[in-house]
Amino acid sequence: MFPFSSIKEYQEALLSAKVTCVDAVAYYAAAIERKQHLNAYLEVYVADAMAQAALIDTKIAQKQPLGKLFGVIVGLKDVICYKNHVVSAASKILDRFTSIYNATAVEKLLTEDAIIIGRHNCDEFAMGSSNENSAFGAVKNALDETKVPGGSSGGSAVAVQAHLCMVALGSDTGGSVRQPADFCGVVGLKPTYGRISRYGLIAYASSFDQIGIFANNVTDAALVLEVIAGADNFDSTVSTKEVPSYSTLLATNKKFKFAYFKEALDHNGLDTEIAATIKKHIAHLQAQGHTVEPINFDMLNYVVPTYYILTTAEASSNLSRFDGVKFGYRAPLKPSDDLTELYKKTRSEGFGKEVQRRILLGTFVLSSGYFDAYFTKAQQVRRLLCNTTTDIFAQYDGIILPTVPTTAFTIGEKSDNQIEMFLADIYTVFANLVGIPAISIPLFKHSNGMPFGLQLMANHFEEVALQQMAATMLPS
Ligand code: GLN
Repeated sequence: MFPFSSIKEYQEALLSAKVTCVDAVAYYAAAIERKQHLNAYLEVYVADAMAQAALIDTKIAQKQPLGKLFGVIVGLKDVICYKNHVVSAASKILDRFTSIYNATAVEKLLTEDAIIIGRHNCDEFAMGSSNENSAFGAVKNALDETKVPGGSSGGSAVAVQAHLCMVALGSDTGGSVRQPADFCGVVGLKPTYGRISRYGLIAYASSFDQIGIFANNVTDAALVLEVIAGADNFDSTVSTKEVPSYSTLLATNKKFKFAYFKEALDHNGLDTEIAATIKKHIAHLQAQGHTVEPINFDMLNYVVPTYYILTTAEASSNLSRFDGVKFGYRAPLKPSDDLTELYKKTRSEGFGKEVQRRILLGTFVLSSGYFDAYFTKAQQVRRLLCNTTTDIFAQYDGIILPTVPTTAFTIGEKSDNQIEMFLADIYTVFANLVGIPAISIPLFKHSNGMPFGLQLMANHFEEVALQQMAATMLPS
């Protein structure tokens, strides 16, 4: 029975009393226990999940109205607040900090009768591409345990990959859902900036952050999206646009018009087998009647620096609240220590190396004297990228890109090479810089045995088209 191949199939089994939600929680709790060494979960809420499961089983038995996600076992990246549960951003500085409210996305999941099974390991404050920056240890890729799962939502990707939950919520500031989805062979969706409320998502870079979804197929991702998207009084950046019922709008015979970036497929950092496979896939799409055309994108080499200047600037401001006074960890002090010492010691001990590096870099690019050279310049590049995006979508429905230049690398392989680690984001950060939706779908397998995905992007709020394109290539 478990794991079911889709939410629909599972819910049909629940309705015909072949399984119960309590069975589901028992199955997933046991699976998580068996795969503990992958380090995907920081905490499992067996008792809470069992209680919720029993409630939903009663509703089913009594034929009461059910929410869209009834019985669905969901995991949360450890940056999403779940009331009365710890949320730590995989950081020592928030160790054992308990959330006093639900993120809007979580509230919506619960309203639709989902069951939250636990919180997932990730890179500290969602900063990283390999999940090696967690204060609670690296996560292992279930397909090859010597390999990273990607990051920063590595635990969530592995949880879906290894069937330790049915779907997971992550966050994607520069690729943190799509990149681990690519490395783990699952679907990873980052919606349009403003599609899902960020209320209750611990901020990394507020003008980039977006909650994203991991699933085993496009329909499951679409179903979760239609539940958690939509207006919210607690987030002024979220759109009031109506939320389509995405999961019912996937089927189409439409022939799409795709663009791909010549510079992206010819990039010298791109694995040659990945490049060749995607080119073959493009030819296949053309043979099916879709239009796929190369376009020039001469700004490719600027997207990573622009992303890192702007996100570190925003992070330096967002993370200033973790000072040893308001939240979580406080360093032990000597009686002679003053307030400045409290800040310094707490932040030096509480934040890991990568987070400290980014706070320092962000503070630097915002400092007077350097502000115009770095921050303003990067904002100007961001504006140019937005203009280019408008031009592209005036002519095309979608953009095709690789998700990541390589397949999952070995744990430890890149930890000393920050530049190489940053370049892993070259194909994903564009969507966050301009705010468009993007999805990574697990289409391919490399001769080295690891999976890799194809990335699709669509215009702002065109998630229906995006998911239709994805479903055309990866039928559920
Ligand atoms: N790898 C990127 C970074 O390190 C993406 C992070 C994210 O999307 N949260 O910033």
